[in-house]
Amino acid sequence: MSNPTEPTFTNISALGEFGLIRQLTSDNPTVQPTTLKSIGDDAAVVENDLPCTVVCTDMLVEGIHFDLMYTPLKHLGYKAVIVNLSDIYAMNAEPRQITVSVAISSKYSVEAMQELYEGIYMACKLYNVDLIGGDTTSSPKGMVISVTAIGQANKEDIVYRNGAKKGDILCVTGDLGAAYLGLQILEREKQIYLAHPGVQPELEQNQYLIERQLKPEAQRGAIAYFKKSNIKPTSMIDVSDGLASELLHICSQSGTGGYIEESKVPIHPDAERMALEFQLDPITCALHGGEDFELLFTIDEKDLDKIRYMPEVFIIGEITDKEDGVKLHTSGGNIHDITAQGWNHFRES
Ligand code: ADP
Ligand code: MG
Repeated sequence: MSNPTEPTFTNISALGEFGLIRQLTSDNPTVQPTTLKSIGDDAAVVENDLPCTVVCTDMLVEGIHFDLMYTPLKHLGYKAVIVNLSDIYAMNAEPRQITVSVAISSKYSVEAMQELYEGIYMACKLYNVDLIGGDTTSSPKGMVISVTAIGQANKEDIVYRNGAKKGDILCVTGDLGAAYLGLQILEREKQIYLAHPGVQPELEQNQYLIERQLKPEAQRGAIAYFKKSNIKPTSMIDVSDGLASELLHICSQSGTGGYIEESKVPIHPDAERMALEFQLDPITCALHGGEDFELLFTIDEKDLDKIRYMPEVFIIGEITDKEDGVKLHTSGGNIHDITAQGWNHFRES
């Protein structure tokens, strides 16, 4: 008899590859009219409703991109989808379909895979995208999950990283640094747990930060607002590696300089408090933390009035001449170079 407190562990070999795929994908209704054929044939078929197809892929490797000691599989599935939707939105396109490929070792059960797919389906449902295919294979150790997202856009609506020009206003859709601090908390609690397995983790008072790390969202509201308000950003990128790195991408690809005003960078009060607890500068976490999945974008000065009513937007800086470099104007009135890895660079103690 199975112990009711122990989760059931069904070996994947009991179902086999086809059985597992069937188990994971049998209840998979599609909602996109452009999905002509979903899972079940040699390939899925997608009809184009707009002239351009926008495609991106992101691969997550256990031990490198995620740690299952503190990442519930459901959250992992959710996040694996979100990071791809975020890339499609960052092109000012609409995601429509995804495919999911997984490689798994024998330490994973059918139930574990179902949990992973629960998160995947949850993201699909919330963002109105269809899961239309994938591949399943075994791995000698651990898990690899690769998601591909397919989006559609009109050619003239697509926003690249390279369109920023001098005088453009630099904006971001939400607060930065929180996901990184969430990760620091989870890492700290993991170390405490490994040293003292009886100690309960202290996670409750840090719910916001942990959620930003484990359950990020993609900024579809921003794309909807641009469309509704007839705004086309001149450049855009999603914040996956940190504000500094993303601004450097925009500036180098656009052939410009730019600056950020430290006092304008949105940082959640919990992130501020936790940064200080870890003896980190909050602005350093915002600049170099990453995984916030907010959108960093530039708009022409003449569109400034149009974004005034955008529900979530922060104006944090401006695009300048290439010769002016990429800079941080600190709250203390200093000017620093922004570099890709600027840890400790900005301390003013
Ligand atoms: P093939 O041998 O033609 O590659 P598979 O047996 O690998 O077909 O897959 C059967 C169907 O299940 C295909 O439609 C494929 O896209 C889908 N599929 C396989 N693995 C996954 C997965 N991990 N997630 C979602 N769909 C999957
Ligand atoms: Mg296959």
